[in-house]
Amino acid sequence: MKGKEEIIPEKEPQRQYYFIEMARKLREEKEREIKRPLTFHVTTFGCQMNARDSEKLEGILKAIGYTYEEKEEEADLVLFNTCTIRDNADQKVYGRLGYLHGKNHYRKDRIIALCGCMMQEVTAVEKIKKSYSFVNIIFGTHNVYKLAELLCIQAAQGNMVIDILDGTDLIVEDIPNSRKYPFKSGINIMYGCNNFCTYCIVPYVRGRERSRPSKDIIREIERLAEDGVREIMLLGQNVNSYGKGIKDELSFSKLLKEAERVEGIERIRFMTSHPKDLSDELIEVMRDSDKICRHIHLPLQSGSDKILKRMNRSYTRQQYIDLALKIRREIPDIAITTDIIVGFPGETKEDVDDTLDVMEKVRYDGAFTFIYSKRSNTPAATMPDQVTKEQNRVQFDRVLKKVQEISKEMAQKRTGNIEKVLVEEISDHDAGFVSGRLSSNLVVHFEGSESLIGQIVDVRLDECRNFYYIGKRV
Ligand code: SF4
Repeated sequence: MKGKEEIIPEKEPQRQYYFIEMARKLREEKEREIKRPLTFHVTTFGCQMNARDSEKLEGILKAIGYTYEEKEEEADLVLFNTCTIRDNADQKVYGRLGYLHGKNHYRKDRIIALCGCMMQEVTAVEKIKKSYSFVNIIFGTHNVYKLAELLCIQAAQGNMVIDILDGTDLIVEDIPNSRKYPFKSGINIMYGCNNFCTYCIVPYVRGRERSRPSKDIIREIERLAEDGVREIMLLGQNVNSYGKGIKDELSFSKLLKEAERVEGIERIRFMTSHPKDLSDELIEVMRDSDKICRHIHLPLQSGSDKILKRMNRSYTRQQYIDLALKIRREIPDIAITTDIIVGFPGETKEDVDDTLDVMEKVRYDGAFTFIYSKRSNTPAATMPDQVTKEQNRVQFDRVLKKVQEISKEMAQKRTGNIEKVLVEEISDHDAGFVSGRLSSNLVVHFEGSESLIGQIVDVRLDECRNFYYIGKRV
């Protein structure tokens, strides 16, 4: 108000709403000057957690009034939400920066912002400061909610703004959010990780485990249901340790039971489950539920006891097999998927044989297979016996072949079934078809129109084409 000194709120999220309003005014001013709307593009690298963070970032930008631009190089504001789990994810970001600053795409007024896991690494930030000094804003994983504030600071100062926190206990929710799909949504139930697997950088870049209060999570689910969401995905690096160490907080399985009670929610998924603390109670809750999807992602990483120990995974191959078979016994129609790393330091052909053996026994419905990528500052990076590229290629091919063989066979088993599909979009390949997912997460394409999007319908699974189905609505 004129004549009154403005007070910037100290508390979150009120503080961010103040800066969203300020950024909105700055945008309007700029738009008047250039006589067109200002646009943004967010590019997301990495996992579901990043995808969820990007929805929040897009929500903030839309609340400021920016218009979405499909082409990254045409946007006035480009934001990279980065990942650092593998070296090639870092390289992709540098590549994109070079592309945007190259002579064909350079634009003086463009704002480039970087956030996410890669920005929590000192070496990456130093490199950007030195070699990509045209970047305007750098922030990390702990202050995604601060985008509007950082945009205002950058507009006032004009130079590169860097805001990286080493860690935080603060969890700021209730900020604007832009869902990719109106009928499904991810929900963060916890942040960070305490497990320190020796190859993984997550505990260093996302900090220690912090669970959100269950009351807040349930309230968010209720609001989403009122807003038309039918499927939710509860997100955390290790959801099985939700609530641990917090007095009177629910366990993960109890949280699932509470989530199930929310009217309007018809499907519940979660990601990711560390095998070391997946409880019998969780298996029972899944078994007895009509809403929890018949899919569990249970990262194996390696089937060799020697490698699992070096990875600090805290389970043996036999414990893992017993757990997976118990899940299959209790919930026969469940799909089990996994992550496998090939080429961890010290891994031999015999260790890979052990991994293949676990795959044979568990019979995965799908698997993400990765070649080990050295991340500096993790214990595995300095382990002796780093595996050569040539060895990796040979062993990776063996694992991949096995993944494809088994997952194809598992998918085929559903041929002829009538199953429920949540319709997600018009098929990429044929405008007369729609695509959706089974409870098991398998993709199905069938004849249908846009009006089905967001609905759950019965579909007969007619033809299995390796990893997806062509079906018919019944
Ligand atoms: S459980 Fe292990 S692999 Fe997963 S985020 Fe935590 S440290 Fe990384």
